[in-house]
Amino acid sequence: MQNRIEVGILGATGMVGQHFIKFLQGNPWFELKWLGASDRSAGKKYRDAMTWHLAGGTPDTVAGLTVEDCKPGNAPRLLFSAMDASVATEIERAFAQAGHVVVSNSRNHRMERDVPLLVPEINADHLKLVPGQQRARGWKGQIVTNPNCSTIVLTMGLAALKPFGITRIIAITLQAISGAGYPGVASMDIVGNVIPFIGNEEEKMEMETQKILGEFRGDHIEPLPARMSAHCNRVPVVDGHTVCVSVEFSAKPSAGDLRHAIDSFTSVPQERKLPSAPPRPVIYMEEANRPQPRKDAERERGMAAFVGRLRACPVLDYKFVVLGHNTIRGAAGAAVLNAELMHSEGMLD
Ligand code: NAP
Repeated sequence: MQNRIEVGILGATGMVGQHFIKFLQGNPWFELKWLGASDRSAGKKYRDAMTWHLAGGTPDTVAGLTVEDCKPGNAPRLLFSAMDASVATEIERAFAQAGHVVVSNSRNHRMERDVPLLVPEINADHLKLVPGQQRARGWKGQIVTNPNCSTIVLTMGLAALKPFGITRIIAITLQAISGAGYPGVASMDIVGNVIPFIGNEEEKMEMETQKILGEFRGDHIEPLPARMSAHCNRVPVVDGHTVCVSVEFSAKPSAGDLRHAIDSFTSVPQERKLPSAPPRPVIYMEEANRPQPRKDAERERGMAAFVGRLRACPVLDYKFVVLGHNTIRGAAGAAVLNAELMHSEGMLD
């Protein structure tokens, strides 16, 4: 745990900020030293600036830190961003301009042409966008993003299947209430109910999936040329997004081909043994009634995707279910793994 890289969090008092704090505890590469939030919180001790919503209580290592303004100055070079989307655009840019590496969980920059939308198991090579981003914008720093929490679960489920030539995707989500932040959806609206609408979620899922599974082409990402339709639903589950997927392939693989691809899938984070990488990023569950959010989302520190019920689809070629932890693999854990990948590439030196 010596010579760790000092890191900070923009938006440290919010729900995702708290997940970052919790997830970073004990990270062997990164040491959390700096917490930023709005001027409502700046100047206060962290313990007085927020209400801790996660299990386990506020870690002692941060409780006494003073919250800072989100302005470039004394922050560490590497910053994780969990800022409110209404302010993230300008603040993240200001930090990148000032030389910071901003690893962001906010949606604001995800679809910009020169910004990587990174899932280390799928598109580590999209980091090659960064030098062009720095040149074009005159930045010494950079912005790298992770996907929306439902998109990352879907794309982890599709990751091993990409070589079979994905041509059409239909995805139906059952999304946990923790994905709406705190206080999120009113209990009167969600208990014993399903809400078949999450603002802008379907559009984000469709666009982000095509970018993540797309190909690096020098100065941009050529989106995956697949047609995709998403239906997004909020369900009364606390943690863990489930996605029911139908998919069509140009190579017409057998079910055995797909199972073999899923079971043998491993990628850059596993090869490099990145500290937050799950040993197996995609785990197939044989039981007919799995994966389930309550039983499976927390396994593998919340960093793996769980796939089940792979079978023929009478409309497209195959269908399956995939589950992932939305606030860990879908938010804080995803960004930390992105930063670990960047460190393994020498991008934080
Ligand atoms: P949140 O609980 O509302 O927290 C927002 C954070 O932004 C707080 O730390 C807040 O500080 C800070 N902030 C607000 N205005 C600011 C300003 N003017 N300058 C600097 N900091 C400011 O939101 P959240 O649920 O954690 O979500 C954070 C981001 O992650 C959003 O972009 C969201 O879309 C994205 N996201 C959320 C989830 C999820 O599961 N909730 C999942 C994926 C992505 P104060 O406490 O001082 O106001």
